[in-house]
Amino acid sequence: MATDKPRISFEYFPPKTAEGRAKLLEQTTPALQALGPDFFSVTYGAGGSTRDNTLDTVASINELGAEVAPHLSFGGDDANAVRDLLERYRELGIKRLVALRGDIPSGMGGAAHLVYANELVEFVRETTGDHFHIEVAAYPEIHPQAESYDTDIRYLKGKLDAGANSAITQYFYNVESYFYFLDQCAAAGIDKPIYAGIMPITNFANLARFSRNCGAEIPRWICQRIEGFGDDQDSIRAFGIDVVTQLCQTLLESGAPGIHFYTMNQVEPTRSIRNNLGL
Ligand code: FAD
Repeated sequence: MATDKPRISFEYFPPKTAEGRAKLLEQTTPALQALGPDFFSVTYGAGGSTRDNTLDTVASINELGAEVAPHLSFGGDDANAVRDLLERYRELGIKRLVALRGDIPSGMGGAAHLVYANELVEFVRETTGDHFHIEVAAYPEIHPQAESYDTDIRYLKGKLDAGANSAITQYFYNVESYFYFLDQCAAAGIDKPIYAGIMPITNFANLARFSRNCGAEIPRWICQRIEGFGDDQDSIRAFGIDVVTQLCQTLLESGAPGIHFYTMNQVEPTRSIRNNLGL
């Protein structure tokens, strides 16, 4: 049973439109901020495609007085561009980063050169010392391009040994995959916290498509139940809140150090789930 207060964080993507941006800053963030998260984070488009938008979104959330962590990858950038971006974040008073290799931008196929996350972590430590608290990504159901379960854990250890402070997982619905993964990580000598990434169920068709690409499994019983609701969105919503609340409860009761919610820039259902947890 965990005794410390679990860490709670909320992830956004940088909004694509002025309306989306206004909603995120004027409605979503104040509503989620009222839940007392430890920080927000803002994703970085594949290949650095949202470089300016991520920076602007981070700066605006920071102005609202909330702690916020930009996600960062080399994307297609060189060291100077990444160094400049780190400097901008430091000037803004940002203290936290999520360091990633990132995905290959669609259309670039094998032409893109991706820098592994452990190299980015090393670079951030070389350039900015201990200024940033660095999070990295972890995969309880294993990264889709991993050579094997064991090498994926070895590379996670490499990122943490390179100076990252903690890890946040890809989302999962199989709670056993997370705890088995924690055991394997501990056996491999990893002693830093691995926070559970949780995706509330909103648009199921999109979730199913996205899950196929990122290697997260949606258990058959969840798919069957949701299919059974047909177009009854209220029942799907209620079921999703129930299932994800139970998942989070089990995680926290069994010792997960905290939860990172993939909010999809929406207050609900994250707020209901967070409130159900009572914390
Ligand atoms: P890495 O840790 O570099 O691993 C990538 C693959 O290479 C793995 O299969 C690993 O086993 C292998 N590997 C790792 N290191 C080495 C090495 N040194 N030598 C050989 N092989 C190696 N994507 C985005 O584009 N933007 C985001 O903002 C974003 N945020 C995310 C946040 C979280 C919490 C998570 C879990 C994922 C996020 N992603 C994001 C997705 C992520 O970018 C992809 O999963 C990507 O394919 C891998 O990134 P990584 O940092 O985990 O890569």
